[in-house]
Amino acid sequence: MSTKRIVIIGAGPTGLGAAYRLQELGATDFVVVDAAPEVGGLSRSFVDAQGFTWDIGGHVQFSHYAYFDQVMQRALGEGGWHHHQREAWARMFNRWVPYPVQNNLRHFPKEALVQCVQGLVQLLKRGPSATPPSNFHEWIDATFGEGLAAIFMRPYNFKVWAYPPAALAWSWIGERVAVTDLERVLNNVLLEKDDVAWGPNNTFQFPKEGGTGSIWRAVAGLIGARHFKLGVQVTSVDSARRLVHLSNGEALPYDALISTMPVDRLVPLLTPHDPVVSQAAQQLVHSSTNIVGLGLAGQTPAEMATKCWIYFPEDTAPFYRATVFSNYSQAHVPDPKRFWSLMTETSESPAKPVDQATLVEQTIKGALATGLIGSREQVVSTWTYRAEYGYPTPTVDRDAHLAKVLPALEAREIYSRGRFGAWKYEVANQDHSMMQGVEVVDRLLQGTAETTLPFPAVANRGVR
Ligand SMILES: Cc1cc2nc3c(=O)[nH]c(=O)nc-3n(C[C@H](O)[C@H](O)[C@H](O)COP(=O)(O)OP(=O)(O)OC[C@H]3O[C@@H](n4cnc5c(N)ncnc54)[C@H](O)[C@@H]3O)c2cc1C
Repeated sequence: MSTKRIVIIGAGPTGLGAAYRLQELGATDFVVVDAAPEVGGLSRSFVDAQGFTWDIGGHVQFSHYAYFDQVMQRALGEGGWHHHQREAWARMFNRWVPYPVQNNLRHFPKEALVQCVQGLVQLLKRGPSATPPSNFHEWIDATFGEGLAAIFMRPYNFKVWAYPPAALAWSWIGERVAVTDLERVLNNVLLEKDDVAWGPNNTFQFPKEGGTGSIWRAVAGLIGARHFKLGVQVTSVDSARRLVHLSNGEALPYDALISTMPVDRLVPLLTPHDPVVSQAAQQLVHSSTNIVGLGLAGQTPAEMATKCWIYFPEDTAPFYRATVFSNYSQAHVPDPKRFWSLMTETSESPAKPVDQATLVEQTIKGALATGLIGSREQVVSTWTYRAEYGYPTPTVDRDAHLAKVLPALEAREIYSRGRFGAWKYEVANQDHSMMQGVEVVDRLLQGTAETTLPFPAVANRGVR
């Protein structure tokens, strides 16, 4: 059993993964502190005044780890989950296009289809480039050709990331973006075939009740309330005396500190101050995410009845994605015979400002313009949430900055992990985050090496 005193900042999936593993290994001297009044972090859920349940954006539960699967089963039990077939679409040209769009070009208007195929043929004629792309913009052009890049990939990615693709690296891509195979594209066009089987999450599980947040409340329940201090903020960390100071005046001593709060917010709280680390941490870039939930009267329209989520590359709507959240669980609406729900996500950054005052109205207008809803009278409830830290942006120089920050913190026995603790988008989903917490505890208590954070590609291969 460990005799180390461990303090964990943040009760999101990473902090809960760390706490769960500590308890499993028989440790007793650990505490999880969170500024929010309940556990879950970005994976929390909310019920609005009209009784609609919302997540902070479309959270799809899938896994690269057997350990994660076991924890999920233990948390909600076999009977606690719905299992869904992914049905993803894009809405463009006023049409529904099955996702990934590049494999379903037959749904495009003829001119656009020809433009996309021409771009792919030109790529083929040109042959592979001698030099690798230096950013995401170049990677898009080299992988999708000029047509698909202009029609879908560039506008869509700007809407998601809120930064121009040229500002992003492409090392995070891995399994996340379906790349293009001209033979397959042409086959599907000529044989008029829909082609939707792609990627890691073609089936996914979702809690029957209570949204994504119910998972993490259940995990916290397995750990035990005595290990949590909720509604209390970490205000400073004295790494010389190994003390975490809290907003309620308490000071918690630690031998190791696992922090899951945004690392660019942690570093300014640290004494002694390190100018090199501070400077590097301030270079990390993030975008914000605005969620607008629309609670809707009536039965789910037939064309929406089996859809999971829809991508929006065009300017007709402010959001880049809408999830038919009532399709994930009927319990998300007050009465499934009378209501259904849509949850939209709109990204924001200094490069892509959002007018908060008009966002709900813009979202409703966008839902009408794209045919998601037929009339504004259907909207019986609106719910909004702004996550200042939504996406950890994989900028071209991200890894250079992280290399200055994370090892320097570890030299002070501070292990910064998770979506914004470690800032690696490619390993920043719920499963990755929880496992970053588990793996760092294994390292601290058992001396085993971490995999997820140092080797994202290995983690994403799902070797169990
Ligand atoms: C729009 C959107 C869509 C997503 N979709 C998916 C998806 O489909 N599938 C999936 O698996 N994942 C998805 N995610 C990611 C998922 O939300 C994260 O993987 C997960 O919540 C990260 O966990 P974490 O513990 O690292 O960080 P967080 O969940 O951010 O938790 C960090 C915690 O630290 C606390 N904290 C911060 N500062 C302090 C302080 N000073 N003192 C005390 N506490 C503090 C916060 O209150 C918070 O609770 C999505 C995220 C977003 C934003």
